[in-house]
Amino acid sequence: MEYLLHVLTEKCTGCMDCVEACPIEDGIRVIPLPTLPERWDIAICRHCNPAPCVEVCEFGALSVSENGAVTLNQSLCTSCKACTAVCPFGAVFLRPDGMMAKCDLCSGSPRCVAACEEGALVYERVERKRFLMREKPSVVELLEFKGLR
Ligand code: SF4
Ligand code: SF4
Repeated sequence: MEYLLHVLTEKCTGCMDCVEACPIEDGIRVIPLPTLPERWDIAICRHCNPAPCVEVCEFGALSVSENGAVTLNQSLCTSCKACTAVCPFGAVFLRPDGMMAKCDLCSGSPRCVAACEEGALVYERVERKRFLMREKPSVVELLEFKGLR
């Protein structure tokens, strides 16, 4: 039994309530889609299992908490952006101030989910373990695809 965070972009109205509710600067980003009017992409960590960002970080700055959240230890992070290169969801990235940013799941009770009245963010318990990355390429394949290895 575990929890999964789902993003239903078709329900997003771009109100930014989730962004305002997030205690982490840029922990969630709502980005207008340039080719589709009134449509937004939502960049937030899905807390993958297994997580490519955790696998690729050579400094141990990313790890999986007991509640399944993939968390970032800023004191170990060198801002090398290897995690950005492998994240399929654009959910961990370098802020203008030089620090990496990502969602930490608010200790298992994400405030963005509570703030979204449109139901675009769903955090639910699932019956059996599902691996979001199962059909995705490996970390090495992602790095090779992006010319980083
Ligand atoms: S790869 Fe991206 S979406 Fe997956 S756990 Fe890491 S930051 Fe989150
Ligand atoms: S609160 Fe919901 S509807 Fe509003 S911007 Fe965030 S995801 Fe979209």
